[in-house]
Amino acid sequence: MSDLFDINAQALRLQQRNHSPQKSHTLPPLALIHAASAALPKSSDPGFLSGQPAADVARHITEHIVPALCGQSQSSRYFGFVTGGVLPLAEWADNVVSRMDQNVQVHLPEQSVSTIVENSALEMLIGLLRLESSQWQGRTFTTGATASNVLGLACGREAVLAKRGASAGEQGLLGACVKAGVSEIQVLTSGGHSSLSKAASVVGLGRASVKELPRSAAQPWKLDLDAVEKELSRPGTASIIAVSMGEVNTGGYALDDVDEWKRLRELADRHGAWIHADGAFGIFCAALDDRDEHRLLHRRVKGIDLADSITIDGHKMLNVPYDCGMFFTRTSSILESVFVNPNAAYLSAGPNAGIPSPLNVGLENSRRFRALPAYAVLLSEGRPGFARLFHNMTQLSRKLAVFLRESPYYDLLPDESSDIEDIFIIVLFRAKDKKLNDGLVAKINATRQLYVSGTSWKGEKAVRVAVSNWKVDVERDFKVVTTILNDVAEGREFDIEKCASSQ
Ligand SMILES: *Cc1c(COP(=O)(O)O)cnc(C)c1O
Repeated sequence: MSDLFDINAQALRLQQRNHSPQKSHTLPPLALIHAASAALPKSSDPGFLSGQPAADVARHITEHIVPALCGQSQSSRYFGFVTGGVLPLAEWADNVVSRMDQNVQVHLPEQSVSTIVENSALEMLIGLLRLESSQWQGRTFTTGATASNVLGLACGREAVLAKRGASAGEQGLLGACVKAGVSEIQVLTSGGHSSLSKAASVVGLGRASVKELPRSAAQPWKLDLDAVEKELSRPGTASIIAVSMGEVNTGGYALDDVDEWKRLRELADRHGAWIHADGAFGIFCAALDDRDEHRLLHRRVKGIDLADSITIDGHKMLNVPYDCGMFFTRTSSILESVFVNPNAAYLSAGPNAGIPSPLNVGLENSRRFRALPAYAVLLSEGRPGFARLFHNMTQLSRKLAVFLRESPYYDLLPDESSDIEDIFIIVLFRAKDKKLNDGLVAKINATRQLYVSGTSWKGEKAVRVAVSNWKVDVERDFKVVTTILNDVAEGREFDIEKCASSQ
């Protein structure tokens, strides 16, 4: 660590690409987790909280805790949730963040460049996602997509009330609703992420305010625009529309194309509603290059410029460490109307600062310099680097989908006839045999060489794969995954050594 800023000493680590070993555990042996748990301090220990040399604690963490963590970022085949990994440069930058412990709260351009770096990172991200920079002047880093959804609903709540002459930020939700003549603020969505309901609870709208308006039972992630129109017209009701751009089970997009976006925008304007897009991982398909096989995905995200606010995750697709999300909205004034620290002159960057102080446009006052790892990878990968990484992830996902569709043992969900080119990084499936299907997730994860999430689809168990690690090697990982899936179906023990040696 003493050589953190010695770039020559770091060079080897920073270049580590395509070196990930074939045998990367996605889960540690269970015995190591038990051993680590047993080694933690207990309040009944005689020496509890009496202190220890730092080196002993570091050894304890290295020997016990590290081996008992799962391989979320280490393995290219950790397909649970959508976790991403950590690019070597991002890990280095994150260590720099900890070393410098910069508090990014007030824009003080003559004291620190940190807020200017944050803004630069956000500019690069806007470019990568092919958004129009001038349209997204309200922007900030958050802790992740959940926090960004909280910001989205908070801004939406503020804006729909402002259109009716009130402010929740100023008068509180109850007072503002009375003043605005609003008896209900509803959140209309389809395939909304669970964090959307959490956000609705946090900002005082309530989980029950989130209403699913699926277009059909077959495609529940698609938004029924006729139903939206009907809901918007209800008297005494103000609405936020949350557009899922990458539904967690299927990866599906709520709107098909820019024509649907235009219709939604027109409806929202007519009824004083706010449109929030949750693009946590799904928005990144915009960074895929222009080859034909990406055309359908590009069509799915075109039109997002018509939203009022956007949620983006950093720690998923950008492959930076945790504690990184982004939020975009059109103006910073709507963020300030919710998040401003009033009457604190010492926190003010002064008028005409250009960049607003982060503490007036986001949840935290003091916070870490979480933009730096994102800044580093955006600068280093650039458009071609991320296009290549995302293309790899897409390729592996689509190859697996074709394998599953053709397999005698598995069914590709939600629909075998759907277009493979609609797939970005999520693949959903189940075993045809009910008994196999019931224990499928446990059997796959028991190999400790592949990790998948269990979910349910139309009332039955299903398996979800999310490919989001920069280490993905399409041919190698396809071979391991399909060997595991065939072995599990045919009741064979999976052997990574055999699989690796037959490469
Ligand atoms: C992951 C995810 C979230 C929540 O993100 P966190 O980073 O875990 O807070 C929200 N929405 C969508 C669509 C997601 O995929």
